Amino acid sequence: MSKPVARPEIFSVAAYVGGESKLAGFEKPLKLSSNEGAFGPPPGALRAIAEAAANMHRYPDGGAAKLRQALGKKFGLDPERIVCGNGSDEILTLLIQSYGGPGTELIMSEHGFSIYEISGKLAGCTVLKAAEKDLTTDVDAILALVSPATRMVFIANPNNPTGTMLGQGEMERLRNILPKHVLLVLDAAYSEYVERADYDAGVKLVDAGENTVMTRTFSKIFGMGGARLGWGYAPPAIIDVLNRVRPPFPVNNFAAAAGIAALEEPGWLEMSRAHNSTERRRLTERLTQAGLKVIPSEANFILVDFSTVERASAADAHLRKHGIIVRQVKSYGLPHCLRITIGTVEECNLVAELLSDFSHG
Ligand SMILES: *Cc1c(COP(=O)(O)O)cnc(C)c1O
Repeated sequence: MSKPVARPEIFSVAAYVGGESKLAGFEKPLKLSSNEGAFGPPPGALRAIAEAAANMHRYPDGGAAKLRQALGKKFGLDPERIVCGNGSDEILTLLIQSYGGPGTELIMSEHGFSIYEISGKLAGCTVLKAAEKDLTTDVDAILALVSPATRMVFIANPNNPTGTMLGQGEMERLRNILPKHVLLVLDAAYSEYVERADYDAGVKLVDAGENTVMTRTFSKIFGMGGARLGWGYAPPAIIDVLNRVRPPFPVNNFAAAAGIAALEEPGWLEMSRAHNSTERRRLTERLTQAGLKVIPSEANFILVDFSTVERASAADAHLRKHGIIVRQVKSYGLPHCLRITIGTVEECNLVAELLSDFSHG
């Protein structure tokens, strides 16, 4: 060997490409490609970062104790069972590094969130994808893939990019049939937006046993994607593992301060949730009336099915021509669809008008 060579599994993965943010000819394109929340960051979070700046020379508290206290208080959870990370992506990756590895199998659903596959392959796991029914996670298809090598099952609930979800009955059925040693990871990045009554973000199953983890994020409803802040809620033995494998300082001073302030921002969750419910319904109705097929969503985005790749590309081009960036979901096996984030009222109106024109034109 004449030069350094990385482990072979690294080349089974392409570098991650996030939602686009630039559009030629537009100084400020409307970015509806990354589900970043409709309102920007909570004002209190901005103030908290400014206040934290003077202490930049101090290392953070690696265990993020104050933030965990605030999370525990806000969501009624034991702070000892919470671990914080540099985005929930980090928690997901640490779980895979800890419980996966060469010779193990990781199961996700067909159109599940890409990080599970990327991190799984990098860790040397074999990643298996369970077919979906109506673009929805199918418990029986997951169970059919379970083998002696299975170590982990990852489900985003609601799922990105489909927006669909599993009710608590199905989730409990899955947990009851899955072998006890298989770790079930419930990625609840969009939990705050769910309207369906038969939903639990994961707390019940985490509390009920030793083999389920819930992950959450500040990147979506709290509008803090750029701060990189996420957290997990897990049984004590799994928290212990995560605290051993996590980096010494996963959460920087600014993210921690902003996170605490965001949790305390009066009415933020309620306001954001109400806005999303109204606009998601309105946009879904308007696009449906225009003859487009919208997948019913419980998240802060909708998936629109244009039937063919050509039509999806043409719709994307039409939106871009008017300065709007949405998410192509080819890499999720859905090249005939586009994923559109629920933005402000004005942004939703513009999307509805442009896609109605497109559909009729
Ligand atoms: C956005 C998203 C995340 C990533 O969250 P970060 O906390 O920003 O790392 C995790 N899971 C799903 C399903 C997401 O859509």
